[in-house]
Amino acid sequence: MPAVTRNINRSKQRDAIVNYLKTHKTHPTADTIYNDIKIDFPNISLGTVYRNLSLLVELGEIKKISYGAVSEHFDGDISPHNHFICNECGKIFDLKMDNLDFVDSLAGNNFDGRITGHNIYFYGLCKDCLSKEED
Ligand code: ZN
Ligand code: MN
Repeated sequence: MPAVTRNINRSKQRDAIVNYLKTHKTHPTADTIYNDIKIDFPNISLGTVYRNLSLLVELGEIKKISYGAVSEHFDGDISPHNHFICNECGKIFDLKMDNLDFVDSLAGNNFDGRITGHNIYFYGLCKDCLSKEED
């Protein structure tokens, strides 16, 4: 296959990954994305999905969510927002809440360096898991 054709295929796969992430608000892992994408791209490999995800994170087109779980999760929504992780089912939800940028200056109050950002993840029980618990 000529190199040009290969590149076009690659960017088609990349577009499909971006599109998948923009239309699925579930913050999927690479494995989940791979399993769903390969329905339309049967020749795609898990390695290709991983490579494209890394590239897209580098390009700032998607965000990576790593909070210490075994697998990294990905987000097609790159607007600033915070996440809630359910301790029971592991699902990740977007939180609608006020901006927390003030914590940078709070953290810098008694610190001699320069704080340029933070990572905050909220956790607990999601609505579904909470209602199961109450049954
Ligand atoms: Zn849950
Ligand atoms: Mn999100």
